[in-house]
Amino acid sequence: MTKIYGILAHPARHSLSPAIFNAAFLAEGINARYEVFDVESLEKFLKMLARGRKISRLENSSPGYICGLSVSLPYKESILKYLDEMSEDVRAIGACNTVKITDIQNSDGSAKKIASGFNTDWIGFIEALKEKIASVKELNVVVLGAGGAARAIVYGLIKEGAKVVVLNRTVEKAAKIAKDFENIRADGGTTEGNRADENNRATERDRAIESDRADIQFGALEELENFKCDVLVQATSVWLDEKEVDFVSEEYLQKNKPLVFDIVYKPLITPLLQSALNSGCKIITGDKMLLNQAVKQFEIWFDKKAPKEVMSKAMNTDH
Ligand code: NAP
Repeated sequence: MTKIYGILAHPARHSLSPAIFNAAFLAEGINARYEVFDVESLEKFLKMLARGRKISRLENSSPGYICGLSVSLPYKESILKYLDEMSEDVRAIGACNTVKITDIQNSDGSAKKIASGFNTDWIGFIEALKEKIASVKELNVVVLGAGGAARAIVYGLIKEGAKVVVLNRTVEKAAKIAKDFENIRADGGTTEGNRADENNRATERDRAIESDRADIQFGALEELENFKCDVLVQATSVWLDEKEVDFVSEEYLQKNKPLVFDIVYKPLITPLLQSALNSGCKIITGDKMLLNQAVKQFEIWFDKKAPKEVMSKAMNTDH
């Protein structure tokens, strides 16, 4: 039976994911097909396919078995309540972009399916960054935006030990990220979790944990001029509907010469990246994050190394 994978999003028509994954399935000789589930209502979609609450029951009404989903806007948060289990990253970030459906056996021998949620956005971002910069530790990074993608990116940066400033149009959302992640430690896990486990250990150890607290500040987009940075990350959705933005000036880019990473990949060279190139800055385009998060998604679904070259080529020929 052909295994079915797909992207669950709205709109999803212009997604590059079918080209990326179908090329990977072909190259690896996997009997699977990647489809587009462009649905206006997550609830209706799940009801229609499953007549039940959990994603793990989707396979009943599909011509193949649904074994995995890439989840995109606007369902990354709302999918959480339909999962049977989720990774620590999903719990911390509050968003899931990868669902894996696995068969498990009950103790009475009967079979059931489990839907597990993962987040590969932060891994895709960090991997793409590390292709240009050997170590992220201690880097000063400004992230513009505080939506779902920015949350995943900030989570990854904090885990890697970067010093992060989050700036957003709606400042409250940037403040919430700073609050939510203040206890994430550079080596993963939370200080609170560790404290609970080691309650009776010496204060010396506690002080070390204290100094490991996330270095994270927040503010409004207009405050960018106040923060020098090594890396500037553009994680708003601004290019979707606006050709010009005024929250990053060429003067700022010329003065600080940051590495500029715009995670938007349509267009590939956004106006900000063009401005960065004009100012002599190095850049990273959004397709690098997309590719690396897809590679990780493949590895979660199939427990083996992804054919990254094939996936990259498929993505580029589909532009
Ligand atoms: P989201 O949750 O909807 O967040 C949108 C963000 O953009 C918010 O911070 C919002 O600010 C800000 N924003 C929107 N319009 C703005 C404007 N005119 N001026 C200033 N800020 C504006 O979206 P998301 O999931 O974070 O995705 C953001 C972008 O990243 C999208 O374009 C998406 O396609 C892209 N993305 C790329 C990858 C990749 O692999 N390359 C992965 C994920 C997402 P407010 O909070 O003030 O509304």
